[in-house]
Amino acid sequence: MKKLENKTVFITGGLSGIGKACAILAAREGANIAIADIQSNTTESAMQEIKAVNSKAIFIACDVSDFAQVGNAIKKTIDTFSSLDVALNNAGIGGEANDVGDMTQEAWLRVIGINLNGVFYCMKHELQQMAKQKSGVIINMASILGKVGFAKSSHYVAAKHGVVGLTQTAAMEYATQGIRINAICPGFIETPLLTKGGIEEDNDAGKWIKSLHPMKRLGRAEEIAEAFLFLASESGSFVTGTAMEVDGGYLAQ
Ligand code: NAP
Repeated sequence: MKKLENKTVFITGGLSGIGKACAILAAREGANIAIADIQSNTTESAMQEIKAVNSKAIFIACDVSDFAQVGNAIKKTIDTFSSLDVALNNAGIGGEANDVGDMTQEAWLRVIGINLNGVFYCMKHELQQMAKQKSGVIINMASILGKVGFAKSSHYVAAKHGVVGLTQTAAMEYATQGIRINAICPGFIETPLLTKGGIEEDNDAGKWIKSLHPMKRLGRAEEIAEAFLFLASESGSFVTGTAMEVDGGYLAQ
């Protein structure tokens, strides 16, 4: 028996990195997939990869920092597949690196708008449907930086701490309504997000980042997808309100 047979799985930021790995694993486990992402030049190739596993997968162009676009994306998902069983609120960006005193207001608002407001917008719409169904699972992609600080990333750290708090609070609110809400806190994972920030597997920045993890390596998107599958499926049936660390030991130090 596949773990997500005929479930509708909505994934933001599902065209790349962690979101795409989760989409492919969920599709392999029998799910119908709705990807909501900013349209990019990789849209077609990424969707082909996902559709190779489940041809019914759909793409919806959506900027998660826009409340109305998020509402439309979730409506289109429900109109297409008739339910919303699992939502992975994963879209996120890194943003400029600066100390707090030098951080521009624009950079602050952009990261908070996507990484925190975007998660709230998604949850608000998702929970309206899930409350009607009296069932559903939400997984928010937080970070180890939702639990500790990291110099020159105050906007990102503040947003991810917010995502953890939002997850815990909503988990309590919906715990008796058949809805489970959790977060995942990955360590540094080898995805385009890191490359965009100048971190490559073997450059100086990459070597330093690897050295911060007791396992002395970056994580792989597929390793985060395994945690997602656990939380999304019946395997995680008694798990709600957690912020699960998948981090090569980063937070154990
Ligand atoms: P990624 O490879 O850059 O994928 C993120 C996806 O989200 C991309 O397709 C991106 O599109 C899209 N996106 C960006 N802004 C968006 C918006 N406003 N609305 C909708 N989609 C948007 O990054 P990733 O590493 O997989 O990160 C996924 C999540 O994991 C993020 O929340 C990130 O903070 C979190 N995370 C990552 C790491 C890590 O080390 N990689 C560690 C901890 C947590 P574009 O490519 O066009 O921007």
